[in-house]
Amino acid sequence: TREKSLNFLEEIIEESIAGGETRIQTRFPPEPNGYLHIGHAKSICINFGLAKKYGGKCNLRFDDTNPVKEDVEYVDSIKRDIQWLGFQWELERYASDYFDQLYEWAVVLIKKGLAYVDDQTQDEIRENRGTVSVPGTPSPWRDRSVEENLDLFTRMKNGEFPDGAKVLRAKIDMAHPNMLFRDPIMYRIIHAEHHRTGDKWCIYPMYDYAHGQSDSIERITHSICTLEFDVHRPLYDWFIQALDIFPSHQYEFARLNLTYTMMSKRKLLKLVQEGAVMGWDDPRMPTICALRRKGYTPASVRNFAEMVGVAKRDNVIDLGKLEYCVREDLNRVAQRRMAVLNPLKVVITNYEDDKTELFTAINNPEDEAAGTRQVPFSKVIWIERDDFMENPPKKFFRLSPGGEVRLRYSYLIKCEEVVKDEGGNITELRCTYDPMSGGGSSSDGRRVKGVIHWVSAADAVEAEIRLFNPLFTKEDPDDVAEGQTWEDNLNPESMIKITGYLEPSLRDIPVGRAVQFERVGYFCPDTDSTPGHLVFNRTVTLKDSWAK
Ligand code: ATP
Ligand code: MG
Ligand code: MG
Repeated sequence: TREKSLNFLEEIIEESIAGGETRIQTRFPPEPNGYLHIGHAKSICINFGLAKKYGGKCNLRFDDTNPVKEDVEYVDSIKRDIQWLGFQWELERYASDYFDQLYEWAVVLIKKGLAYVDDQTQDEIRENRGTVSVPGTPSPWRDRSVEENLDLFTRMKNGEFPDGAKVLRAKIDMAHPNMLFRDPIMYRIIHAEHHRTGDKWCIYPMYDYAHGQSDSIERITHSICTLEFDVHRPLYDWFIQALDIFPSHQYEFARLNLTYTMMSKRKLLKLVQEGAVMGWDDPRMPTICALRRKGYTPASVRNFAEMVGVAKRDNVIDLGKLEYCVREDLNRVAQRRMAVLNPLKVVITNYEDDKTELFTAINNPEDEAAGTRQVPFSKVIWIERDDFMENPPKKFFRLSPGGEVRLRYSYLIKCEEVVKDEGGNITELRCTYDPMSGGGSSSDGRRVKGVIHWVSAADAVEAEIRLFNPLFTKEDPDDVAEGQTWEDNLNPESMIKITGYLEPSLRDIPVGRAVQFERVGYFCPDTDSTPGHLVFNRTVTLKDSWAK
């Protein structure tokens, strides 16, 4: 077999190994301001995957530099999701662990004349930054003495000034073609309680000042991030050089975009806060916890990340690929069960009234070790309404008047009579069975083409079934018509609740474990499910809408 070709990040790492690098260290740096989504899953698979492949390590570093938006609830969920995906970090670190060091380094830059305290407001700073074609206007405070800057910065730290009164800026070049170099802000004043450092700090570092130095402290060799940070890379390098510290390097890949899927944490948070979804783990959300609740397996998400690969250019992936990956994995691992979601009553007229038989059913044809189970059969059964047609077309092999069909694992039945209500709706079929046809045979060797699933009515377990459709009606949820917002693109039919009739063994399936309802799709018990009120989520339909 041919070797899979390397992706560009693997190429970069193999080059550095060829160049003498003996240690590969990556990190995954989430901001604890929301739950992780499928885009983060890709980043996790890349960072942890590369470390694993090259015998290296991957740290988990919380980028907790903005106390206003961050919370331990998010920290806990992030750790759970990474472990669920099957990865384990080397060190658990927080940017806030480095606040003292970052402060000391800011003092170093002030002493080198490379940073100053600016009294301008945020608005003034923005206005004076200029544009790509117009150089910025230097701040009137730009040439403060080192002594004055040290004094003011200390007082900023000590809480003498209100929010927004001052910032610390790097002194680089107000005419630089890269706007980020026009004296970027390093620290701002925020009098807010931090979920880890409490009220120790009232100045907080900006992303650009914190990220590279945090990487450097952890001696990260390959700092991998998404493409929009490529313009930040020169600044990342500038701080590391100005401080003369361990030279971590940043590499960028294209972020994952999926059709019909919103990836902005801010907007996902809005959906949660406004009650448009049941929570961060609502099965319609693109979050990892939602995929888990919906019945996705960790392997299916990892396989998806592998399948979409690592690109250098932004693109949009078909949501069908994610569904393809879960369908493939569940086809291998999910047990089969019978359930009827759109029931039609069938009475078997020549079967004894109170009799029950058990038939042996195979749990997973892809996995012999999964064994078998017993399924009860009796006089009245449910079948799917779609499996009967009163006036069938030529190649309809399921049930029709006078026609015969095989009940999966059980008897052949023949439709003798169609019962209707006054409105002409079919309410019941009356059928006969061939007593010699149990377990695949028949009394005279005849064969039928159609096999349908069924559930014994007396034994059936009722369950609420939640069918999910994409949360948005547009491929690009941000494609907004005039006068509308992205929320107008929400799909009013993203969740449909129906009642299903399940074979009794489905009572015992653990929450989150997907099973195949034969001929219907993959389903798993929801976290809302209780013994008195079973609730199943549709994980994915059985049929592929997307071909590989
Ligand atoms: P948002 O901008 O919606 O708040 P974020 O990208 O800022 O999300 P972070 O917590 O900062 O969220 O992300 C952690 C890591 O995951 C970062 O390295 C980021 O680049 C990566 N990441 C985030 N979204 C995606 C995505 N859609 N595809 C791939 N990687 C992503
Ligand atoms: Mg962000
Ligand atoms: Mg971010």
